[in-house]
Formats: sequence, C-alpha cells, structure tokens
Amino acid sequence: MSDVTLTLPAHIEVLLRAEAQKQRPNEACGYLAGKAGLVHEFYPMTNADASPEHFTMVPQEQFAAVKAMRAKGQDMLAVWHSHPDTPARMSEEDLRLAYMPGIIHVILSLAVPEAQSLRGFQVFDNIPHEIQIQRTEEA
Ligand SMILES: [Zn+2]
Repeated sequence: MSDVTLTLPAHIEVLLRAEAQKQRPNEACGYLAGKAGLVHEFYPMTNADASPEHFTMVPQEQFAAVKAMRAKGQDMLAVWHSHPDTPARMSEEDLRLAYMPGIIHVILSLAVPEAQSLRGFQVFDNIPHEIQIQRTEEA
C-alpha cells in the first residue's frame, strides 16, 4: 500500500453511497475536491455511457465542475465511480481510461461487504497502486 492518503469525511461517504444506489444498475461517477488530501466536496457527474460496466463523464459537466472548484479554491483530489456488481478494484477499462497521471481513483463497490467497498488507487504505467482512505467525522 502506498503512503498516499485521502481523507474522507463521513458525510461525503454518505453522499457517494446514496449516488451509487440512485444510479444503480449503472455506474455512478464524479469528482472529489478539497485541499491537502482532505475531501471537502463531491461533484456528481452524469455517466454518459449509462452502463453497469463503465463510465464516461460529460465534458461540459467536467468543465463546469473544474470551474466551480477553482472558484472555491479547491483542488481536484480524485475521480470517483461505483461498481454496482464487481469488487472495488481497477478494471481493465478503468486502467485504460486512467489518463490523468497521479490522480486518485476512488471506487465504491455495491457488491462486497462494506469494509471492503471503498478503495482508492493511483495509476502509474498502467499499474494500480492502492492508497489509504482515512475516514473522518469532520468536514
Ligand atoms: Zn471501474
């Protein structure tokens, strides 16, 4: 496991789980933004693929989200998506589409026990490295 840590407030995780359930059976997706590894805000995005196996974000929504982050002084910390039917690991498709070097990919699985359901990865040279997701009660 890498020593990179993403700190996720409990209320953000609640939002992620709600969004994943809402988009079921398709994958849900979005950005996590904040400062210095602490997530402050979840930006849900439309999955243009409307698929249970992969996702594509809508460029106009990506642009608007990045603009909103800038206005609030937030950094994009992670790309988040759900796996409705598979474990929380990077799929072949996820690796193929991991085009932002160093960005954290957070995957929430709806198919495994809760303790194993949320994992984060960075991809270097097409190889996923798991990072630590630390839960916090504070925002
Ligand atoms: Zn995936």
